[in-house]
Amino acid sequence: MARILPKKDVVIVGLGWTGSIMAHELTDEGLDVIAIERGPWRDAPTDFPPSYAQDELRYRIRHELFLRPDQTTFTFRNKMDQTALPIRSWGAFMPPNGIGGGGVHWNAETWRFLPSDFVLRTHLTQRYGAAFLPEDMTIQDYGVTYDELEPHYDAFEYLCGTCGQAGNLRGTIQEGGNPFEGPRSRPYPNPPQKQGFAHVLWAKAARELGYKPFPQPSGNMSQAYVNPLGVRMGPCTYCGFCEWFGCANYSKSSPQTTLLPVLVRKGNFTARDNCEVTKINLDGSGKHATGVTFVDSSGQEWEQRADLVILSAFALFNVQLLLLSKIGKPYDPVANIGVIGRNYTHQTVSSADGQFQSVRLLRLDRHVHR
Ligand SMILES: Cc1cc2nc3c(=O)[nH]c(=O)nc-3n(C[C@H](O)[C@H](O)[C@H](O)COP(=O)(O)OP(=O)(O)OC[C@H]3O[C@@H](n4cnc5c(N)ncnc54)[C@H](O)[C@@H]3O)c2cc1C
Ligand code: SF4
Repeated sequence: MARILPKKDVVIVGLGWTGSIMAHELTDEGLDVIAIERGPWRDAPTDFPPSYAQDELRYRIRHELFLRPDQTTFTFRNKMDQTALPIRSWGAFMPPNGIGGGGVHWNAETWRFLPSDFVLRTHLTQRYGAAFLPEDMTIQDYGVTYDELEPHYDAFEYLCGTCGQAGNLRGTIQEGGNPFEGPRSRPYPNPPQKQGFAHVLWAKAARELGYKPFPQPSGNMSQAYVNPLGVRMGPCTYCGFCEWFGCANYSKSSPQTTLLPVLVRKGNFTARDNCEVTKINLDGSGKHATGVTFVDSSGQEWEQRADLVILSAFALFNVQLLLLSKIGKPYDPVANIGVIGRNYTHQTVSSADGQFQSVRLLRLDRHVHR
């Protein structure tokens, strides 16, 4: 039997980047906010001390920061007529687990979408003709434009202290930056990180071929930084243990290093860690959310009522919670009907790797330093 907690204005499910930003904005508006997070509390001095922050066995091999199969077991099948089997070991997709979510163990590569990404259907049909997109391809324009989002990109980059070289400042192309990016209202808050030997060689070769290489924007501090909320970040030591690891230096942007120190001091914010939301509750009409049900680490079930329920558990778990709560029509890939779960993807970036003979690099090295 669920025990009932005092009602709040807002309940937020999952306290990663999305949940932290929503909590910050809504508490600033004076609302009483509670965030419920399934994983533990995490911070640099307690969880990523320099003595073991780079422990590869703990973080890389044993997945300390990710969801454990004994917490929530995923099953997977390629086709509807197969029996779904448990996923025992994570591959490319690593579901976060804990305060800060994926923001703790991301790399902090901080890209903006291109203006054309927001109007992809229009862009592709204008460029390649109406017959270019197959009929069953569901690509749509976003309904929000780059220009509308630009102030929010800018706010996020200044919150995170993003390091980079502007390529397009208020419509004027900047030397050394990405000439294809949308216009930005301000330069990055910090200069790009130092470039390694291979990066310098690569950029030189690309420039000689007429390309415009630029340093990747990153939330790994090229210098000490104090963000607009007054939170301090330290310069990166280039240890290289960003992805899958927490940063021991407060150098990698994360909810912990940018927002949470301010959020936890607010009287109208509460966070509950180690609590898993199992259901979104609806009123009698079935159209309005009244709160959520969650289970704490002792197995006790609770009901948190609220006027506003915000799902910020990441696309996969948002879908899972909607399905468990019987909200919306589930996607049926055979009949091609339903919305919940349709077009789900966990990653939208593609990349290419190349290998180069080291002897050639050494010759170039001599050439570069002569
Ligand atoms: C290893 C790795 C590296 C990455 N590197 C980059 C990068 O360099 N640049 C980039 O742009 N992106 C990167 N990403 C992606 C990026 O980290 C995520 O897109 C982003 O952090 C998502 O933020 P979010 O708040 O929406 O979701 P999440 O960070 O996933 O937060 C959701 C939170 O909800 C909690 N939760 C889930 N279900 C429940 C439930 N039922 N009850 C309570 N809590 C729940 C989770 O524990 C989690 O803390 C990376 C991701 C990974 C895994
Ligand atoms: S010190 Fe720099 S390289 Fe090392 S984890 Fe932190 S941000 Fe990443």
